[in-house]
Amino acid sequence: NAEFPLPAETRIFTISNQKGGVGKTTTTVNVAAAMATMGARVLVIDLDPQGNASTALGIDHRGDVAGIYEAILDDQPISELISESPDVPGLWGVPATLDLAGAEVELVNVDHREYRLRRAIAALLVDESVDRFDYIFIDCPPSLGLLTVNAFVAAREVLIPIQCEYYALEGLSQLISNVNRLSEHLNPDLRLTTILLTMYDGRTNLSQQVAAEVRKHFSAETLGAVIPRSIRVSEAPSYGQTVISYDPNSSGAISYREAALEIGTRGAR
Ligand code: ADP
Ligand code: MG
Repeated sequence: NAEFPLPAETRIFTISNQKGGVGKTTTTVNVAAAMATMGARVLVIDLDPQGNASTALGIDHRGDVAGIYEAILDDQPISELISESPDVPGLWGVPATLDLAGAEVELVNVDHREYRLRRAIAALLVDESVDRFDYIFIDCPPSLGLLTVNAFVAAREVLIPIQCEYYALEGLSQLISNVNRLSEHLNPDLRLTTILLTMYDGRTNLSQQVAAEVRKHFSAETLGAVIPRSIRVSEAPSYGQTVISYDPNSSGAISYREAALEIGTRGAR
């Protein structure tokens, strides 16, 4: 797998969709794990108080563990908060603990409240105590609160996972106008670069119709790879694993590797 191209500069993605259950966390951890197995150094920042990404990476996120809360609200360096996923070398994570739920409210009264995560990541990029990461993925909660705004301000690229279901396109135009408004006011570098179709079921007309519709409107952004609905994908987290390490030959692992390779090959555009 020597042909996975590494970016000259760290690429920073936020994985966003204000809907819950569309595959944000699953996409974050599996694309990240796939890239790591292909030779990239990858960091996942868990920004959802539920800590689902931390669970899937096999990274401790009990209440007494220091995590992204400490970086955002206490200025603790991210380099002190990262740990390597036990199953995938090169894949690192910053855990989210439940106290992060309170951060949404606590941030309201903090200076530069939209820029906390951006500042923490900027410090990481020049922190000589850690090797450079090729990719940083931020897994967002399903809301447009201050945590999600922090992710939009910290990232350069937006990856939207779209579940191939009836209401998939509803809310998408709102999400895109949020991205545009945010980039206008808070982060001019932000761009929607990547859309990934998930939970695709090729046997149903609905999945095919949703996929066709998304490709019609977002032909440049939508990856060719599509993630099928698969039991193996959904059971991996209960073993504290990504499907990439849990069942590398499953259809889910194969398609997430394809998606990761496409993201790497297309480069930041
Ligand atoms: P979000 O982070 O957007 O809330 P998740 O990634 O947690 O969404 O996914 C929601 C649920 O769907 C989870 O139970 C997850 O295991 C399941 N899931 C995600 N992708 C797939 C897939 N390709 N096949 C089957 N189940 C999936
Ligand atoms: Mg999630």
